[in-house]
Amino acid sequence: MRTFNQIIRSSLVHKRLKSTAVTSKMHVFTQKRNPITGSTEWDVQHEDYDYHQEIARSAFADMLHDTERNKKYQRALQLAIEKMHDAGKKANVLDIGTGTGLLSIMAARCGADTITACEAFKPMAECCLKILKMNGVADKITVIPKRSTDLTVGEGGDMNEKANILVTEVFDTELIGEGALSTFYHAHQYLLEEDCIVVPDSAVIYAQVVECPTLQKWNKLNDLADEDLEVILRTPQKIKDCAGSAAVHDLQLSQLPRIAFKELSDQIPVFYYDWSGRSPVDRRRTVKQQFTVSNTGRAQIVFMWWELNMDMEGKICLSCAPWWTHPDADLSSDRPQDKIPWRDHWMQGVYYLPQEMTVQKDSEVSLVSCQDEYSLWFYLEDEKTKYRHYSRPICECGVHMAISRTHVSYLNDGKRSKRFLAQIKEDLVKDATVLDFNGSSFLGMAAAKMGAKTVYILENMKLNINILNDYIKENALENVIVLSELTDEVLEKVTNVVCDPNFSSAILPWENLKVAYLLHKYKSKLKDSVTIVPESCEFWAMPVEFKDLHKIRIPLGTCEGIDMTMFDSLVESSRLISDAEIEAQPLWEYPCKCRGEPRKLVELQMKDLKVTYASDGVHPIVDSESQASNPVNGFVIWAVWMVGGKSISAGPVEWPNVGERVSWDMHTRQAVKILKKTKIVSNSDKWNYQVACDLENGHFSLNIDWASEES
Ligand code: SAH
Ligand code: ZN
Repeated sequence: MRTFNQIIRSSLVHKRLKSTAVTSKMHVFTQKRNPITGSTEWDVQHEDYDYHQEIARSAFADMLHDTERNKKYQRALQLAIEKMHDAGKKANVLDIGTGTGLLSIMAARCGADTITACEAFKPMAECCLKILKMNGVADKITVIPKRSTDLTVGEGGDMNEKANILVTEVFDTELIGEGALSTFYHAHQYLLEEDCIVVPDSAVIYAQVVECPTLQKWNKLNDLADEDLEVILRTPQKIKDCAGSAAVHDLQLSQLPRIAFKELSDQIPVFYYDWSGRSPVDRRRTVKQQFTVSNTGRAQIVFMWWELNMDMEGKICLSCAPWWTHPDADLSSDRPQDKIPWRDHWMQGVYYLPQEMTVQKDSEVSLVSCQDEYSLWFYLEDEKTKYRHYSRPICECGVHMAISRTHVSYLNDGKRSKRFLAQIKEDLVKDATVLDFNGSSFLGMAAAKMGAKTVYILENMKLNINILNDYIKENALENVIVLSELTDEVLEKVTNVVCDPNFSSAILPWENLKVAYLLHKYKSKLKDSVTIVPESCEFWAMPVEFKDLHKIRIPLGTCEGIDMTMFDSLVESSRLISDAEIEAQPLWEYPCKCRGEPRKLVELQMKDLKVTYASDGVHPIVDSESQASNPVNGFVIWAVWMVGGKSISAGPVEWPNVGERVSWDMHTRQAVKILKKTKIVSNSDKWNYQVACDLENGHFSLNIDWASEES
């Protein structure tokens, strides 16, 4: 065992959220909120911390690994350039948002006569220049580090003349969220010839109305019920009625279990976008389309995806559809979702309807689709339900502003809350005084309903306090007091401490150690006889093979035969500066196989907390002899909490078997370390870890890697 200090020094203290910055030469002092202590700390950071983090975390690599996208762009560009040449014209290409220069280099290869590439993000534009040099095409492409809307045309301008081919990829999951509408509008006005060809030529947005109680859990807070399904806490009406957050919920929809939703409509093409300039695209529009309901059910949600028609003839189509409507899906295969192209830079969108509506099979209802310059939203109408306006929904209840969608789904996870409630009920003594450390959960209020004499809830975030007060009023709780600080007088009275170990402020799993931090802080003031829920926390880890997720981080090397190592080094140096090695991901959206026995890294007993924890270990991949050599491209770390002697996993929902797919808890995110290189491991390979946790200061750090020089 190494000492605590050795481990602390050798491991990365994980990144925290940053708020303000004061510059001093090469470094900035950034003010960061420590999610465990809740306090603000100063930290020294690299001057350009912000954009390094942006580069390290951007979806660029995954986008460049998207072979279908790359190839279809290349083919459509080739057709466009040939078409110009066949008409006896020069092919003058404008590439808006060139990024690494990929599409411009493709244009050069296809014989374009002139190529202008612009890029608004300066570090990318600089990187692009290096890539062009490296690939010997710097003389063929002019890079302008500007936003396209700032480009000038004419003598002495950025471009001598207007271009007659535009190639651009400025789309996000919502298609228009990156400002594509104004980019195209401006380009057609000022930068392009009348008879230009645009790649892509057009786009279509599709919508499908569904019933999906699983996803509705991400949006609407349900009443809280106990094991006997008796309602313990009623959700205030204003929360039930809230239209929710307008922002799209982007998701790997193909990973949603098929039984989790019911299709109530076919896929409906709702918006067409003519990028070619032949017909104008409105910046705001509302369309109402009648459709025949395909199944009786409760309309709750609209699924959205889009497709690009890359060429004018409509022969090359790039679809982001989920597997059940994807043009290339093999529906006879076991898991059709594994066979269609995977991408993380474009997912599918989920929009929660402002109101649920029951619809009957074969009846006619209307989908109202709305679009402004950057976003979409939907309404549903029938004979009885009509809206006076179709304004963009906004949250009026506070829940959708205060807590993330994942946290809403967590609070709705009845299986878990029933376990907590049962244990609290069992622990409650006569005239119990309960202290709840987590004001972003309902346990304290539930304890009040279940018979506690007095309940104190520690919470200092204004938005969370407002929600608590609404619940207190709705449920007529007269014995609940919300405090932003605890006094000795309160602490001495406490008989039961309850703390749901999922804080709305936590991102990485160990940020929920706030429970241990608070217990440690107040331990000396609490009675010895106090009961504590949860009893303990464990962190577990295992090596995995991601089917696709690794693509968001692995170096490119080459992409479509283009040397992209300059880009890889930019990402790598940014990653080191921004300390983005371990990240939180909702793993149910990203299939992986277990590639080694799960191991416990550290355990904290809430009744018997130490000030510091330090542990390290070396583990073989598997316990028993096994001959296979298997690929490993990541490590996953998750928390397991003990309640009433039973474990509650914020990781796998069933014990993972080596070699098999893992099913992950849908209501929490796990910590992930993606390896830069896939490693083929045999049973003699080992991995190691170091964990250091300091409850006095609320610090937690974790290293995990291959044990030997073979890494
Ligand atoms: N064309 C590259 C990169 C696409 S990512 C490729 O296909 O691989 C989109 C890039 O466009 C981002 O780098 C973003 O900064 C840039 N961008 C978006 N809108 C822009 C605009 N109007 N002008 C210049 N750059 C833009
Ligand atoms: Zn709301």
